[in-house]
Amino acid sequence: MEHIILNMNKQIYDERENNGALQLVAVDLHKSYRKGKLTVPVLKGVNLGVREGEMLAIVGQSGSGKSTLLHLLGTLDSPDSGSIHFDGQRIDSLSGGQRDLLRNQFIGMVFQFYHLIPELTTIENVLAPIMIRESVWGYLSKRHQYRKKASELLDRVGLSHRIRHKPNELSGGEMQRAAIARALISDPQILLADEPTGNLDLNSAREVLQLLRELNHEKKVTVVMVTHDLSIAQQADRVIRLIDGCVMR
Ligand code: ADP
Ligand code: MG
Repeated sequence: MEHIILNMNKQIYDERENNGALQLVAVDLHKSYRKGKLTVPVLKGVNLGVREGEMLAIVGQSGSGKSTLLHLLGTLDSPDSGSIHFDGQRIDSLSGGQRDLLRNQFIGMVFQFYHLIPELTTIENVLAPIMIRESVWGYLSKRHQYRKKASELLDRVGLSHRIRHKPNELSGGEMQRAAIARALISDPQILLADEPTGNLDLNSAREVLQLLRELNHEKKVTVVMVTHDLSIAQQADRVIRLIDGCVMR
């Protein structure tokens, strides 16, 4: 046991030593799913340190637990054991409400299938996290300011001509760029992206990746992206592999 803890601390220490402060740290994460009487272990002791401001890619084959790990990092789900720390504070043990708040203010999430609300226009989708966070009165009193910010973000992701379109009137690349604008509306410190280019043609995938890269530089937002595609992953500052439930470097 002592050996495991020492080794685990060393792995995280190595990451800290190379460059900058660690913003998001996962320590010895375990996660299994139950299928009937069977327990399927997916994460078997994942240790990971994400540096502030870096763009990190996590690769692994389909079914290797990439989405599971990203959901844990984003507090969408809880590990069976282990812990997750954001800016030095433990986050996996927060209450549901506190986790919602954390996600809404500090962590932006982007998914393979965009998860836009079909009834809402592009700009309304981008504003949705703020509408959820603020009271009706709070939102209404600042709505010009918020709409301005959403328009600027949509402009930044190249969608100023699609502000009033509904998701079904957008291409895949456009939907993903709208989802990225939505993830950025609350000025998150970190963006967690699950196969953000997984459903896109080659050109749209390149554009989305380029956009993430630029936003990482411009807004100093940390990016953690999971992908099964090595050519996509290689655009990041650092690539780590998820193999057999553990992180290989
Ligand atoms: P990846 O994103 O790398 O493709 P996932 O994290 O989605 O992998 O899944 C890892 C493994 O966990 C797979 O075998 C998958 O079938 C299983 N799994 C994922 N989510 C669930 C769930 N909610 N219930 C049961 N099994 C799941
Ligand atoms: Mg996945």
